[in-house]
Amino acid sequence: MDHFLYRDGILHAEDVPLTEIAAAVGTPFYCYSTATLERHFRLFQDALAGMDHLVCFAIKSLSNQAVLRTLGNLGAGMDVVSGGEYRRAQAAGVPGERIVFSGVGKTREEMEYALSHGIRQFNVESAEELRVLSQVAASMGKRAPITLRVNPDVDAKTHEKIATGRKEDKFGVPIASARNIYAEAATLPGIEVVGIDVHIGSQLTDLAPFEAAFTKVADLTRELRADGHVIRRLDLGGGLGIPYTRSNETPPLPLDYGAMIQRVFGDLDVEIEIEPGRLIAGNAGILVASVIYLKEGEGRDFLILDAAMNDLIRPAMYGAHHDIIPVIEAVAATDQRPVDIVGPVCESGDTFAKQRAMPPLDAGDLVAFRSAGAYGAVMSSEYNTRPLIPEVLVKGDQYAVIRPRPSFDEIINRDRLPEWL
Ligand SMILES: *Cc1c(COP(=O)(O)O)cnc(C)c1O
Repeated sequence: MDHFLYRDGILHAEDVPLTEIAAAVGTPFYCYSTATLERHFRLFQDALAGMDHLVCFAIKSLSNQAVLRTLGNLGAGMDVVSGGEYRRAQAAGVPGERIVFSGVGKTREEMEYALSHGIRQFNVESAEELRVLSQVAASMGKRAPITLRVNPDVDAKTHEKIATGRKEDKFGVPIASARNIYAEAATLPGIEVVGIDVHIGSQLTDLAPFEAAFTKVADLTRELRADGHVIRRLDLGGGLGIPYTRSNETPPLPLDYGAMIQRVFGDLDVEIEIEPGRLIAGNAGILVASVIYLKEGEGRDFLILDAAMNDLIRPAMYGAHHDIIPVIEAVAATDQRPVDIVGPVCESGDTFAKQRAMPPLDAGDLVAFRSAGAYGAVMSSEYNTRPLIPEVLVKGDQYAVIRPRPSFDEIINRDRLPEWL
């Protein structure tokens, strides 16, 4: 459920008509709903009630500080995957003790920065990283709290590019080697073992792969404890999928996910961390664009929008589906007809949908891409020297631009001409 609904024939974000924002801000733009973000965060809080837990929002899915502060104010922790994201979390007011640091390629600089500004734990992904982290921490007179990310070798049955828990994926250490690496960790002067981490992929639409992975983690917890390690915290990653179409998808609910977690880990006396991104942010955001032309081709019409693949890359990159709906509601009896919905960028990959049934639309009309909150704005670029599009946050009847559209001068003046030119 989200808070983007038609009222009096106009699509609203909470209590604000999107026509109003479009007139003030111009198109295209991203628009997020505070109520939806908060609601999704609370679904996870409720799902894990009864267990000691921390819900860490995966910043990489939607990293605007206003969103981070909205969630941080509810007590959310943050999962960061770079020094930049760490700084964003801090800028949004989230204290280090609620920040976990994931990622296969942390640099010494990133480790040092996080250690000096406060960190809940590093989710370490290799023995090599563990040794470097120990050196960095020890040289600062500190011990770095760590979990080791284990790769449980389960197939998350999701898109190739976002599956992370199979043995051929680059993430984590093979679960079979974990005991050896924990044994080494116990000897390292700059390391304090606090738990285990796992994350098997994104947009999972079935609980079975999660349960298979978590069961392996529960077994490993018992083994490591028997070996004498302190395993007091389990980070279970993110990955719960969302419905991208209104009709035929029914991914598991956070409540069922939470019940499964309680079933698998309930008797272990551990603190649970989860790192949802998409499920919190995905359906809390839309992208609003205008039609530039309806181009009539031979046997095929094209709806050419002012948004393009640089603004929302998921269709081009993952073949992802986004529902695209008119901002002015189509009259119920209107005939729909198939169109290709494309952007202005100079490559054929800049196609949002092929032969999508749409009501009649013409130049100047507004459309909204649903489910664009996660992996939308964060993956955008300035390809074709198209300015990054604004982000707008709505709360009730208020809205604010939380990232303005840069001017062309700002973009062009970032280039520097060398002396010889
Ligand atoms: C991407 C990622 C997440 C978030 O995944 P979602 O599918 O957005 O929930 C969480 N943890 C790690 C380590 C990730 O890489």
